Amino acid sequence: MKIIIATHNKHKLKEMERILLPMGYEAVTDTMLGIELTDVEENGETFLDNARIKAQAGCKESGLPCIADDSGLCVDALGGEPGVYSARYSGTHGDDEANNRKLLQNLKNVPDEKRTARFECAICVSFPDGREITARGTCEGRIGYEKRGDNGFGYDPLFMVGNKSFAELSAQEKDAISHRGNALKELREKLEITSD
Ligand code: IMP
Repeated sequence: MKIIIATHNKHKLKEMERILLPMGYEAVTDTMLGIELTDVEENGETFLDNARIKAQAGCKESGLPCIADDSGLCVDALGGEPGVYSARYSGTHGDDEANNRKLLQNLKNVPDEKRTARFECAICVSFPDGREITARGTCEGRIGYEKRGDNGFGYDPLFMVGNKSFAELSAQEKDAISHRGNALKELREKLEITSD
């Protein structure tokens, strides 16, 4: 069965394909189907709200099961910020440099033990008959004092797990512990149960 993935992020697409294919789902994008999913406004209060908004809209428009995710960084000393605003923390959507600068600035006088943070990821699959499957994953870490490493994207160079930043890990090492990796593991288990 075809399932449409509501993302243009190649990294996410590959990760989801790896999970869905063995379950009998052929992952496709809107471009591959020759359609264009409308960019919906992600105005939910939680990651799951936003994943659901995208999955429901994509399912309705395509008539296919649709999978969508939403993720971000929650920093304890900032009351959970940037949270659902992670991509546009500095004001400009997707400006990783500016987002990281703002994060460091806001944590300027915050000591080591208070720099705890976690990445969170929510996934929603919406089916044309109204069913939905959701999954969630987190990854605990802390915010460093300067950027480290060249891999990954977003806040990876500042997000420390042990003595390495996410940007110092290989893609496989990150997948094994990341919020998205953990959410996809939960999704796989739930899909296995429903396909029995
Ligand atoms: P989205 O799920 O693609 O909307 O991601 C929202 C934002 O959260 C991204 O633009 C990044 O700033 C941040 N983010 C989400 N996942 C990661 C990650 O694995 N590493 C670094 N930043 C992330």
